[in-house]
Amino acid sequence: MNELVSLDAAELARRIHAREVSSVEVTRAHLERIEAVDGPAESGVHAFLHLDAEGALAAAEAADRAVAGGAPASPLAGVPIALKDNLTTTDMPTTAASRILEGWRPPYDATVVARLRAAGLVPLGKTNLDEFAMGSSTENSAFGPSRNPWDLTRIPGGSGGGSSSAVAAGESPLALGSDTGGSIRQPGAVTGTVGVKPTYGTVSRYGLIAFSSSLDQIGPCARSVLDAALLHEVIGGQDRNDQTSVSAPLPPVVEAAQAGARGDLAGVRIGVVTEFSGEGYQPGVLGAFTDAVRTLGELGAEVVEVSCPSFGYALPAYYLIAPSEASSNLARFDAMRYGLRVGDDGEHAADEVMSLTREAGFGAEVKRRIMIGTHALSAGSYDALYGKAQKARTLIVRDFTAAFATCDVLISPTTPTTAFAIGERADDPLAMYLADLCTIPSNLAGNAALSVPCGLSADDGLPVGLQIMAPALADDRAYRVAAAYEVARGPGAGPRIPELRALEATR
Ligand code: GLN
Repeated sequence: MNELVSLDAAELARRIHAREVSSVEVTRAHLERIEAVDGPAESGVHAFLHLDAEGALAAAEAADRAVAGGAPASPLAGVPIALKDNLTTTDMPTTAASRILEGWRPPYDATVVARLRAAGLVPLGKTNLDEFAMGSSTENSAFGPSRNPWDLTRIPGGSGGGSSSAVAAGESPLALGSDTGGSIRQPGAVTGTVGVKPTYGTVSRYGLIAFSSSLDQIGPCARSVLDAALLHEVIGGQDRNDQTSVSAPLPPVVEAAQAGARGDLAGVRIGVVTEFSGEGYQPGVLGAFTDAVRTLGELGAEVVEVSCPSFGYALPAYYLIAPSEASSNLARFDAMRYGLRVGDDGEHAADEVMSLTREAGFGAEVKRRIMIGTHALSAGSYDALYGKAQKARTLIVRDFTAAFATCDVLISPTTPTTAFAIGERADDPLAMYLADLCTIPSNLAGNAALSVPCGLSADDGLPVGLQIMAPALADDRAYRVAAAYEVARGPGAGPRIPELRALEATR
């Protein structure tokens, strides 16, 4: 394994900008790593749905020229990155891991993609996901699951399992994900990587294929807290193309990550959410979480317990609100505008073509969500289902407001269990939905939340995530605490790139 694929983005950038190594060399090393471990789809990591080696090398050459001219475009210029395949890109297909978008080429770049390019980062390709980001394992991808680099028989989380497994496997130092109910944080937790859901509205969603518009948020995936912060600053900030984009200045996340790394949390009040531990949680996850709580106390933080009694409604409320919005958002895939078209043979009317295309183009989970959402929004059920869910959402917001009145941040395990086996929950949607138990409240309330590696579970040796939640527009607090914890935890228990020797040996 080439040493370059094990380095953090910040260190890669330092070496590239000091001209100790070129961006082209760094990019080549990652393309070789992908070649070694990503395929074949049936047994490799399968993080990528599409690779653009030529485009990546051209972007790397441009970054090297800028460095040679003394003007790297940003602190991350020259560093490779992988993009979740629900972000539009003009030079690569965008499928959302759905058959219905087969053959579609977006005419524009998502704002975050345009910002990455302007900042001199090097897009390697598009990563796998659950179809339209609906799922917690990437098993709902129309193109087969991604695999967890720690154990290739297990899921890498979802929906952004491609982005998290690419980062965990050393295929890319950075990736972008989208988090509607946990799809950046949950994959981060189960692959031993950092995943951040920024405050709603602080990173543009223009060019993100919409799932649930009041919940969706794009954010960074990385192997260190500082790397995530550096990427956050590249993609964040107001965008006139996104009507929900906020004008408030981006919280100083890089500064916070650097301050946190100095390892002092004196004066910080941390609330442990009572409702997110105990029954239903894997003992090894709770063990790692308890160790983390102790570490945070040793760093000088004041750790208290806080009850958020309405968080128990988050999962059911989410599974009415998200499908409702999805049923409306996915109406645009009507066989007329994008991708697949089935039955257009002169024999079928437009509405028949539409239903034949949606029947063939959408997978089972997407259809399930469209049906639940359409039902929840129907005249006879709206008050009892969608309306009730919105009321529960208000109660959850109030719980956060009350908790943040006494605590700077809240913490919990990111997920109730470590990575489960591929196939284990595939036929049990309710078991699958439980993976996002702890992450969903922050989507419903719109506040910032991240997952940082929290060592390995004593019962199965797999990565555990520590979730840190901060008030809206105070993302910097979560970064500060995460960075302090990351340093104190030490590299021994932190993320490492699993060697994947067996896989490499088959090449
Ligand atoms: N697992 C959740 C779902 O299936 C969240 C997905 C997401 O955040 N995109 O809806």
